[in-house]
Amino acid sequence: MNKDKKKIQGLPAFLSVMVFVIVAALLFFIYRGDITVMAESRAEKGAFNRNNEDEMVSELISDRSGYLRIPLPDTAEESDITVRDEPFKKLIFVRINGVDEDYYKDNFLSGDMTGIKDVRYGYQDGVFTVELETEKIRVPVTEYVRGGYFIKVASPAKSYDRVVVIDSGHGGDDPGSVVYGIEEKKITENVALKLRDKLTSKGAKVYLILRDDPVATDEYIAGIADETDADVLLTLHTGADANTRITKGVSAKATFDIKEKAKILTRMLSEACDQKDLGLSNERLSGVAEITASPCIWLKLGVITNKEEALKMDSEEYQEKAADTITEFIDKELRREENE
Ligand SMILES: [Zn+2]
Repeated sequence: MNKDKKKIQGLPAFLSVMVFVIVAALLFFIYRGDITVMAESRAEKGAFNRNNEDEMVSELISDRSGYLRIPLPDTAEESDITVRDEPFKKLIFVRINGVDEDYYKDNFLSGDMTGIKDVRYGYQDGVFTVELETEKIRVPVTEYVRGGYFIKVASPAKSYDRVVVIDSGHGGDDPGSVVYGIEEKKITENVALKLRDKLTSKGAKVYLILRDDPVATDEYIAGIADETDADVLLTLHTGADANTRITKGVSAKATFDIKEKAKILTRMLSEACDQKDLGLSNERLSGVAEITASPCIWLKLGVITNKEEALKMDSEEYQEKAADTITEFIDKELRREENE
């Protein structure tokens, strides 16, 4: 007994220094806000508490900085995990299959919550689901390692070299111009859908808004372009000249920052679709183009009051070719060289 006591009293000075350093580092990490969150219980959705300090230290050492870590049992493979997002609702879902329900009673989420407003989770039929509600429209960046799934949220512009917001221009109760029994919205919606698929397959990040949803107002659409740092907000329309019914051709209006590019687009379309190039129109910007802070092209695919052109735009062949050409334009002319 006496001997042990002596030993402790005789602690070398450097050990005291080490203790001081560890405590200082711990306080630094707490101060920096690398808070560790934990699931209080699976029954309490979204309830997160500060972890105890011992666990916090070990988590911080093992975690990737900037990521939220979802612990995984050693048996969980990468193929057990699926990630899905609903960007307009600002939600990202991580589903983990085949995990024992009790596992998440003792293993807690931890790490960085930057850009994440709320975390909810639940367990049902062998699937543990984590639902992240983001502050803005964000894309998930993930990394799997055995024993942990790391996820953070990033601006689309940081993850993709082209971010495109497509607005169908009309939809729902608003058919746009209706001439010769042809609805403008049918043309613009068809092109918008084709464009989404073509651009997505070329690796662009696309946010398509069809105006059949009552929520899709000009303000809503402009907000999505601004929130995603879109390289272009493309709003699709047809032109009209009811007085002469002679005018035909492709034209555009554009915000100042993308006017020169818009000219290239109307030229490319006119060549590909055998249409007259009317170039940039002098009309003042209106609707979504007037509100958004993002580069915006208001594209008039053709003039619907001209019968020949209306029938042409209504054809599958035209819509396919127009979507191909707009895709080529965005690929060639709007690709950012580097992600800053
Ligand atoms: Zn229109």
